[in-house]
Amino acid sequence: MNDQELLRYSRHILLNEIGVEGQQRLREASMLVIGAGGLGSPAAFYLASAGVARITLVDGDRVDLTNLQRQILHTTERIGAPKAVSGQAALAAINDAVQVVPITVRADEGAMMQLVSSATVVLDCSDNFATRHALNRACVAHRKPLVSGAAIRFDGQVAVFDLRQAESPCYACLFPPGDGEDELCAVMGVFAPLTGIIGTTQAAEALKLAAGIGESLDGRLLMLDALAMRWHSVRVRRDPACPVCEGR
Ligand SMILES: [Zn+2]
Repeated sequence: MNDQELLRYSRHILLNEIGVEGQQRLREASMLVIGAGGLGSPAAFYLASAGVARITLVDGDRVDLTNLQRQILHTTERIGAPKAVSGQAALAAINDAVQVVPITVRADEGAMMQLVSSATVVLDCSDNFATRHALNRACVAHRKPLVSGAAIRFDGQVAVFDLRQAESPCYACLFPPGDGEDELCAVMGVFAPLTGIIGTTQAAEALKLAAGIGESLDGRLLMLDALAMRWHSVRVRRDPACPVCEGR
């Protein structure tokens, strides 16, 4: 790291748990962020400010006026622009040393496999179950850590599925395919700062996993009721009959 980088990241380097070594690991980390919306916005901001090597930002949508209440990567000026491109502009303004790869189409299963294979950590910031399950399958196949977030109305959830570990559950162990409500999240109300809290929590977990520090949320589902501002968590175990991760 050069002098500018040592200064920029000094408040991380000052943390004993991170130090120069941890910051160097972040500097080599490649983050895959699926969704540049309410969760992906704060998550990507912190990944960029923290100095990861690369952020691949995947979103097939364009910025819409209704997004701006919570999707803080985007601006009034960029309404109509592809979200991944708008996000790239916002992240470059924070830290232009981070390579941002915008993908402006919704990733299909094959593309998802490809993208996951080269990621250090995967962040699921999407808003529908089809994407969540496809991404989980790719993370199981490539044994990549998956940081999953969801926010709807005043309720948020975060979970980590560290699929590098043989005993860790996958997303489908917790939410079996075909079990959930469908594409509703996109048209429901959501409290703006809830997406910030959950997306930022995802960034914290992703950075910890990439730096190799602390204890991750692996095997726990953390839930927030933002109306009462109460957090609680439940243990999540691997389902031996899970159709996705059995025999991995
Ligand atoms: Zn599973």
